[in-house]
Amino acid sequence: MLKRRALLLAGLPLAARASGYDGPLFDAHLHYNDDAQLPHPPADVLARMARAGVRGALVNSRPNDGTLRLVAEHGAQWVPFVRLYRNRADYNGWFADDSIRRMVLDLLAQGSPAGPFRGLGEFHLYDSANADGPTAVALMKLARERGLTVLAHVDGVAVDKLLGHAPGASLLWAHTGIGGEAVARVRELFARHAGLRGELSYRPGVTADGRLTAEWRALLTDHARRFLIGSDTWVTQRWQHYEGLFADYRGWLGQMPGEVAQRIAWGNAAELFQLQPAGPSA
Ligand SMILES: [Zn+2]
Repeated sequence: MLKRRALLLAGLPLAARASGYDGPLFDAHLHYNDDAQLPHPPADVLARMARAGVRGALVNSRPNDGTLRLVAEHGAQWVPFVRLYRNRADYNGWFADDSIRRMVLDLLAQGSPAGPFRGLGEFHLYDSANADGPTAVALMKLARERGLTVLAHVDGVAVDKLLGHAPGASLLWAHTGIGGEAVARVRELFARHAGLRGELSYRPGVTADGRLTAEWRALLTDHARRFLIGSDTWVTQRWQHYEGLFADYRGWLGQMPGEVAQRIAWGNAAELFQLQPAGPSA
């Protein structure tokens, strides 16, 4: 259904999409994992991005070779991140595994075909106590020292802990919490941590029947500089819905003032990662 809607939208001239935001988009949560690479080679990924109007992306993959392969391609502005996982087993132990820290240092030294790595993650903490693990602490301090952003799939308790280890570090909060963290809690954390931003894939509560909810309209407007959008292509199947996901974002972005929509769609990422202006669509 999402896919069909995206195809319909793609066939319409821009003027006919008047109800949605039609400017450039940045995908702040793109995975290019090993299992996606055969069905979706880089040319297919770039074609999907172009059809969706996605002009740049934060890229990470399990293992990291997927990122190195994708960002070698021209056609989008890439922001490569070092993923902390070589395999599925690393999800559950990375925070106390010094070999992960050494892998990160090696990759940072090596860089990518699109330039230096700009951040670490996405990483997960299923138990917030693990935010105090030695590797988690070391990587947060490293991120702050080197001006890297971390993409963290964690709860609010872990946000406090991680940023407690490295006050002032830049943390992009995947999904803006786990399990629909209360909006009041998001506001509280934003007030406490200047370097905290929210990424909105899978975030419940933003819309109801395609309309922005009052609570989220207020949050997004009050904190227009703190939000980014993303696809979260965490499983291969998700690539089939890529255009539809961004058509949905365009729908609710278009329900906000143009300045707010532009910031969340592109401007905040452009500022955080020093992107080039997106320019007119090709
Ligand atoms: Zn993810």
